[in-house]
Amino acid sequence: MKGTKIYSIFTGTCPVCHTGKMYKERNAYKISKIFDMDERCSHCDTKFKIEPSFFYGAMYVSYALGIAVATATFILAHFAFHLGLFSSFIALIVALVVLMPIIARIARNIWINLFFKYDKTKAISKND
Ligand SMILES: [Zn+2]
Repeated sequence: MKGTKIYSIFTGTCPVCHTGKMYKERNAYKISKIFDMDERCSHCDTKFKIEPSFFYGAMYVSYALGIAVATATFILAHFAFHLGLFSSFIALIVALVVLMPIIARIARNIWINLFFKYDKTKAISKND
């Protein structure tokens, strides 16, 4: 999987080398540290924040992801579990709240992956 954008997005690794971690705290549910990132990749020295407020754009991605999660939850609750409209709506809200930290990080990872490309030469350890 390494070398694909999916890998970087779901593991939160650097979009260029797929080796260095982007976040200081692995657990997205430690909300106070959810966006604590190193400025540069510890492995390949890529600067994550290309420009000030670079990650504001991730909000659009997180909005789209939220809609997708809400729609999927609603369809699942209403059509697969045969819940009523109100219960399905509650399920949708619960899913959004519970998954919020994951959605927020995935959105950031998708956003940064739109601007960077995997570079095999940078993936190789400096010591090799
Ligand atoms: Zn890197």
